[in-house]
Amino acid sequence: MRYLFIDRDGTLIEEPADTEQIDRYERLRLMPAVISALKLAQRLGFRLVMVTNQDGLGTPAFPEETFWGPHRLLMHIFESEGITWDGVHIDRSPAANPSPFRKPSPLMILPYLAQADRARSLVIGDRITDVEMAYRVGLRALYMPNPRQGVLPSHLEPITHRVNGWLDIMALLPRMVFSTAYARRTRETDIQLTLTLYGTGQTDIQTGVGFLDHMLTLLAYHAGWDLRLHAQGDLEVDAHHTVEDVAIALGEALRGLLGDAAGLHRYGQWRLESTHRYLPMDEALALVVVDYSGRGHCEWRVALPEGVGDISPALWKHFFQTLAVRAGLTLHLWANGEEAHHLVEALFKGLGRALREAFQRDWLQTTIPSTKGRL
Ligand SMILES: [Mg+2]
Repeated sequence: MRYLFIDRDGTLIEEPADTEQIDRYERLRLMPAVISALKLAQRLGFRLVMVTNQDGLGTPAFPEETFWGPHRLLMHIFESEGITWDGVHIDRSPAANPSPFRKPSPLMILPYLAQADRARSLVIGDRITDVEMAYRVGLRALYMPNPRQGVLPSHLEPITHRVNGWLDIMALLPRMVFSTAYARRTRETDIQLTLTLYGTGQTDIQTGVGFLDHMLTLLAYHAGWDLRLHAQGDLEVDAHHTVEDVAIALGEALRGLLGDAAGLHRYGQWRLESTHRYLPMDEALALVVVDYSGRGHCEWRVALPEGVGDISPALWKHFFQTLAVRAGLTLHLWANGEEAHHLVEALFKGLGRALREAFQRDWLQTTIPSTKGRL
């Protein structure tokens, strides 16, 4: 299971600078976008656990009755929005005399860790103690620094990702979920890739076939993927096995990532108002239409006058067909032009744009985009 272990004050709700206590109703203020972000997190399969230090709760400095009213209202707001918590853990000990459970001790979250997917679980907090708690149990932390905190100790830097707030977190969580590592090794090729959907177009592609690297870079950039792909193939024979197996690897990685397709747009380039139904590249013009149908099919209406980058027209067709079949895409590729380089480039850019559109999701929608109920 993936967990978000979330601090309360300064993270879910604002923390008053004076007493640092939310001990009156008028002090209860939610952080911007926190409700939307938590709903998204639940939609993405994260379980939520609240973990908070409440210094001296129950002492004259912080009487019980001043705490529970605002806290219950907060929990009621979450409940009314369908946000549920696997646990709410409150340590009451003062900083001067900490209990064994007080953060940065990880004891409050320890019971969850046995079933936690640690690579996809996070601590979210505004204090160094939150980050330190993550460090002690091998988790990563999203840190929205409280302005009154000092410099983060250097041993915490490698596990820390700084965020400006919940809108940043909303952009990060899908990338954590829709990210995969894939490896495929045969007697002909050895391919390793990591693919992240909803990324920023960062690429590191080395297939040994320069023009294919160039095309995959364009594809990832226009699709909004982060893609690292290293392939070692039997190029001493020719490029066929490498080109084919890269398409297999990319297609299977995509298929594995997309999962149940809930909320998926499914179609690329279908909207009438779409501005990029066609992808021009100088004299070449490509039309790329995608349906994430679950059934692999490729319609190839491209008259490539010659090969490009040591890859024949037949092998380019084979690349797209293989990708379509392995990813479960219905893919229509039409292109006209004179220059083979431009034609292939237009196809890859157009495919990236179409896939970006098809793989968009309405995050709060759980409907499968098919009357059949599954793709
Ligand atoms: Mg805090």
